[in-house]
Amino acid sequence: MKLDVLVFASHPDDAELGCSGTIAALIAAGKKVGVIDFTQGEMGTRGTPALRLQEADAASKVLGLSVRENLGFKDVFFKIDLEHQLALIKKIRQYQPDIVIANAVTDRHVDHGKGGLLATEACFMAGLRKIETTHDGKDQSAWRPKHVYHYIQNNYIKPDFIVDITAHWNTKVASIKAFKSQFFDPESTEPASFISSPEFMKFIEARAREFGHQINVEFGEGFTVERPIGVRDITQLV
Ligand SMILES: [Zn+2]
Repeated sequence: MKLDVLVFASHPDDAELGCSGTIAALIAAGKKVGVIDFTQGEMGTRGTPALRLQEADAASKVLGLSVRENLGFKDVFFKIDLEHQLALIKKIRQYQPDIVIANAVTDRHVDHGKGGLLATEACFMAGLRKIETTHDGKDQSAWRPKHVYHYIQNNYIKPDFIVDITAHWNTKVASIKAFKSQFFDPESTEPASFISSPEFMKFIEARAREFGHQINVEFGEGFTVERPIGVRDITQLV
């Protein structure tokens, strides 16, 4: 299956927190979108890997994803090396996305900037014919996505462009709340974590409102680019 957009995420819930409004907008416009999580988030304070996979599945249904996979990399400890680059190259060639959206270029959690860089490198490498890979016993063709964007996570980064997600804000919130073990739940008996306080969801809303405000809409998601964006019609911008 060919995807229009493939989202890479170091942890299950990174895509939901960082760009699920944009994902929902793309799917509402008829695009095929998939998310590939690198790790099961097994070093997270709350929940278990099995629970995180169930929650990721629930979030995928909320968003209407065409594909959700987990590569089973080691949370916190995965490296940018040949093994991990090849795992991504195979997925890029399998799904042939025109656009890849990846983790923030730098962030509080070490896996975020690392995941963002791993995705950037793999997108370039996937286009090199002399890197040979197979899928289901068949040789894969080289494929390089046209664009790689990075969502913005915990730490503020000045966005290069902002997507209006106002119409999809409720879907974004529902997709985040699908990760029940991670976020605020008054009934939970699990230890408190950085993201489990009620204030964390207020922060997510504040960030979306701030980005929205910058483009005169209610809610937005910001992204950074690796090279300038070309537009055909400057009258079609928000
Ligand atoms: Zn994360």
